[in-house]
Amino acid sequence: MNDSIRKLAAWAEAEGETVSALLDEPMSRHTSFRIGGPAALFLVPRTRGAFAAAVKKAVETGTRFFLLGNGSNLLFDDAGYDGAVISTAALDAVSLDGDLLTAEAGASLSSVCKAARDASLTGLEFAYGIPGSVGGAVVMNAGAYGGEIRDVLEESLALDPATGEIRRLTLEEHAYGYRDSVYKHTSPAWVVLAASFRLRAGERDEITAKMNELAGRRVAKQPLEYPSAGSVFKRPEGHFVGQMVEESGLKGYRIGGAEVSEKHAGFIVNRGGATSHDVLALVEHIRDVVKRNYSVDLECEIIHVK
Ligand SMILES: Cc1cc2nc3c(=O)[nH]c(=O)nc-3n(C[C@H](O)[C@H](O)[C@H](O)COP(=O)(O)OP(=O)(O)OC[C@H]3O[C@@H](n4cnc5c(N)ncnc54)[C@H](O)[C@@H]3O)c2cc1C
Repeated sequence: MNDSIRKLAAWAEAEGETVSALLDEPMSRHTSFRIGGPAALFLVPRTRGAFAAAVKKAVETGTRFFLLGNGSNLLFDDAGYDGAVISTAALDAVSLDGDLLTAEAGASLSSVCKAARDASLTGLEFAYGIPGSVGGAVVMNAGAYGGEIRDVLEESLALDPATGEIRRLTLEEHAYGYRDSVYKHTSPAWVVLAASFRLRAGERDEITAKMNELAGRRVAKQPLEYPSAGSVFKRPEGHFVGQMVEESGLKGYRIGGAEVSEKHAGFIVNRGGATSHDVLALVEHIRDVVKRNYSVDLECEIIHVK
């Protein structure tokens, strides 16, 4: 353990119940891919204040850190992470004020969608079934079935780790693009503490029916029976990744424990014991074949953390 990690771990210990800390925690336990070696320090803050304090302390001690939402868009390296992974898993409160829904960074999109449905508020149905947290979804501009976070976001509360300043970011200030936002272009990365979504009054039965329909489409099309990190590549203009991969004969192609899904060729699934090395080798193979067949450069959506 290096000195900066030791200092951060000692701080967490002194914080008591508001932050729990684990040493050498395998990231395979915290990612939907079930892949990844140990993080030197794994922190789980239990309040928004403790979350902000943990990030600031990481900066102060000179510890490199990574913000973990639900881990559903990540490939943690087999070698692990030689810094602190700060998880939002325990920050899950959701509140409503009229048609404005506010959620802490770690609230799951599914629980946020259910809270909106229970209040007969429409607008978030598209996000039902995306297995991410609010923080991850705001950063990634998560989207599905014609909707995206930017369609409903009112503002987010951002912590700048460099200065400790907390700012309200308006929708425009997110500079949203396809699976892209200002959060992906700040260094050290800004932290989403919470986000608010502007919804509209709707019919609860219609909202429920839409959510069920979309969940059903996911079950039918996506290989939810195996660990994965969702679509591996961003959608290139004018092309469908799954179709190109399938037409290239790659469905079921396997390297080690990583396999191009038989059910949806845009997914790589972990068929058991896959390593990050297996996944990266498979990603490269797919990119090479698709480039050769279609002259298209595929760009990874999944984030490789090392
Ligand atoms: C089966 C399956 C289906 C999927 N379907 C879709 C889909 O339909 N549409 C879609 O868009 N995505 C989909 N995904 C991908 C993934 O669910 C989304 O990208 C999601 O938004 C990621 O959220 P997360 O909380 O899991 O973030 P993580 O994977 O934990 O992190 C993603 C990024 O966000 C950062 N981050 C997380 N929390 C914070 C925070 N509080 N502050 C700052 N940065 C933070 C991380 O550091 C990282 O850079 C799917 C994934 C799976 C496994």
